[in-house]
Amino acid sequence: MKRILVAGGAGFVGSHLCDRLLAEGHHVICLDNLLTGSHDNVSHNLDHPRFEFMEHDIVEPLKIRGKLDEIYNLACPASPVHYQADPHYTVMISVMGVYHLLALAREKGARILQASTSEVYGDPLKHPQTESDNGNVNCTGPRACYDEGKRCAEAMLFDALRQHGTNIKVARIFNTYGPRMHEKDGRVVSNFAVQVLTGQPITVYGEGRQTRSFCYVDDLVDGLMKLMNSPDGVHGPVNLGNPDEVTILEFAHRIAAHVGVEAEILLKPLPVDDPQRRRPDIRVAREVLGWAPSTVLEEGLSRTVDYFRAKLNREDRLSRK
Ligand code: NAD
Ligand code: UDP
Repeated sequence: MKRILVAGGAGFVGSHLCDRLLAEGHHVICLDNLLTGSHDNVSHNLDHPRFEFMEHDIVEPLKIRGKLDEIYNLACPASPVHYQADPHYTVMISVMGVYHLLALAREKGARILQASTSEVYGDPLKHPQTESDNGNVNCTGPRACYDEGKRCAEAMLFDALRQHGTNIKVARIFNTYGPRMHEKDGRVVSNFAVQVLTGQPITVYGEGRQTRSFCYVDDLVDGLMKLMNSPDGVHGPVNLGNPDEVTILEFAHRIAAHVGVEAEILLKPLPVDDPQRRRPDIRVAREVLGWAPSTVLEEGLSRTVDYFRAKLNREDRLSRK
């Protein structure tokens, strides 16, 4: 049994990771300051004998008692609406947060996996994106607090490897979706799902010609664990995502068709620096980790829409009490 810290464990991806690690028999310390995550995401584990919840902000130094084998760092707001709400704090979370977690990894001799992002490629100049691309990020734009923070975090991890021999792993995560996404986080999957379920028009930004490639959360968690458990010499960065690319307009039509409603599209302005194309090249993940996603969009959407439908029904019942 390993003792594993999941920073950001009460968030969307982190809570699924905690579930999987518990199911595999490990002891899980879920650390979170509940900035964008919630108790609801982990409430089913609170009485579990191998689960601990620790409320803490990784911007502050942290102490963990006892041994620690692995640290997954997922603590960072991930949706543009959330990370742009307090941009300096977003930078601090990526830079100071990683500084403290690296110190902890060094003290405990633990492996550390950083949840980096496809945003390190910015508005990509090459398509699909490979790990050797250095990216095209506007360092003065409104997305820079997230993108540059994550780029700096990657630099810090690789310096820790070179300077101290810390066993680091860097995953570049592409757009991921599934149950437990925050219904008001402004991301495209949650927005569109809630809009079609509540009879509102679907807000497509720009003309919807920009593309994204959506990965179901279970596949991502599988990839993160494979990377953490990869041989000592494997550090990444490794792209984790689903190469099935769709335009945002097509995605709006697919989600409406899935729910069985007519798509009513409301065009809104394209956000500044919105990447035009995004699709991962996952050859490294396939070859080094033996990983590839297996959930097709229809199947993942079905589970995600069911989740939002149940959540909206519950909230509706509560508001009528
Ligand atoms: P999320 O916002 O649901 O989860 C982030 C979690 O981190 C939340 O529970 C939040 O409360 C916690 N957190 C934030 N700041 C913290 C702090 N200072 N101290 C302690 N906890 C803090 O986001 P998510 O979609 O689950 O993303 C998880 C990670 O994966 C993030 O690091 C994100 O950058 C990365 N990522 C996600 C995606 C995606 O599509 N979901 C894509 C690329 C990268
Ligand atoms: N988007 C959209 N309508 C929405 C929310 C997002 O058209 O209601 C677009 C957004 O402009 C972007 C894509 O969907 O091109 C993905 O946005 P999201 O915020 O989910 O993630 P990211 O931009 O970080 O990939």
